[in-house]
Amino acid sequence: ELWRRCLSRLEAEFSAEDLHTYLAPLQVSEEESGFTLWAPNAYTMETVRERFLAPIVEVLEHLCDGPVAVEVQVGARSPDRGVGKPATRTRTAPERVAGSDSSLDPNYTFENFVEGKSNQLGKAAATQVAMNPGRAYNPLLLYGGTGLGKTHLMHAAGNLMRANKPDVKILYLRSEQFVSGMVRALQQKGMDDFKRRFRSVDALLIDDIQFFAGKNTTQEEFFHTFNALFEGKQQIILTCDRYPKEVDNLEPRLKSRLGWGLSVAIEPPDFETRAAIVLAKAQAKGVELPEDVATLMAKRMRSNVRDLEGALNTLVARANFEGRRISSEFAQETLRDLLTVHAQAITIPNIQKTVADYYQLRLADLLSKKRSRSIARPRQMAMGLAKELTEHSLPEIGDAFGGRDHTTVLHACRTIRDLRETDGKLRQDWEKLVRTLTE
Ligand code: ADP
Ligand code: MG
Repeated sequence: ELWRRCLSRLEAEFSAEDLHTYLAPLQVSEEESGFTLWAPNAYTMETVRERFLAPIVEVLEHLCDGPVAVEVQVGARSPDRGVGKPATRTRTAPERVAGSDSSLDPNYTFENFVEGKSNQLGKAAATQVAMNPGRAYNPLLLYGGTGLGKTHLMHAAGNLMRANKPDVKILYLRSEQFVSGMVRALQQKGMDDFKRRFRSVDALLIDDIQFFAGKNTTQEEFFHTFNALFEGKQQIILTCDRYPKEVDNLEPRLKSRLGWGLSVAIEPPDFETRAAIVLAKAQAKGVELPEDVATLMAKRMRSNVRDLEGALNTLVARANFEGRRISSEFAQETLRDLLTVHAQAITIPNIQKTVADYYQLRLADLLSKKRSRSIARPRQMAMGLAKELTEHSLPEIGDAFGGRDHTTVLHACRTIRDLRETDGKLRQDWEKLVRTLTE
């Protein structure tokens, strides 16, 4: 019922085709901790997360008159979790924050987080912060690409804090929820409540703060919240999809605050870690996954853990449904589309990572504004590869490289094209990189 009302509001905002393709197939379950939208496959899940989640949350919060947590997952609603139970349960906005129900996801823990080189530091820092809130690193900022485990670590830190001290007040929010909560508070003249709510916590966890970009009132309010918490030695944990200094339209004074504590990059996992993650996720589901299937998946699905998990869910669902054993043939057959898409899809982040690895640079440096030759040339190389190997336009490529102008990208492409004619070493590098990316 609530969901139906939500959908009918979204009708105004999206095309019939969008609604039909992405929103209609979703199943919804409502729990104490929030809503889960169940998508039939990983692709729908990703699309819903990227394009529809913010508006959905907005509408649901409006309908429920308070903050709500919404998760999108692959799967189906289990029969005992109903749709559209009375909305009153979610109508208790201020209490939800303080009590035991803070929309922390209990499924994200340190125990079930697989450690590898790419996330070791992030895990260690999050653990220390959880053991010693407000005193170890404040703020703790985890940054890196999508689907790499930032949200997982953030919840894990919250859950550990709670395990150590059950009455600790933790508030977890996605940044859009902070924005919409503030907008509503402003409209309803509830700013005092809003401020109190955020400043009375022991730990404030805000996910994906890149969404604060360009929202000046929000940044202003967040800045003051930040200061109050910081002074009170209350823990702040934040995530961002890139190094905050590289987020455009974020106030300098806020950026500087973000650097006061510890910022840790979460990198894409290497092959061994990917394989270990699939195996661990399978085990958690009580599924026996043969090594060769885990290897196949880890080899082919390189970019992010979320896709890997989606593929595993698809595999398990189909095996259960058809009563078959998960063999490597079964995996090939079931995941054929996914695996080939992944084998072929060369994405800009992929190129950036590959180029950074090749030249032994940090990804953050490659995307930074630094102009030294040792960084600028590889960056031009990466832009040239992006133009050559993907369908992205010059402005899109510019955006992906820390918001550069399309003329900069054009210049990079031309420079590299010319150098490939005249500079033998560079030509070799280019060819090796192309091979790595297209193998
Ligand atoms: P992000 O917030 O960086 O976009 P998430 O934390 O949402 O990524 O992670 C996406 C999915 O991948 C989650 O289901 C998470 O549990 C899983 N995941 C990511 N990294 C790991 C890991 N190292 N071990 C176990 N699961 C992981
Ligand atoms: Mg996240």
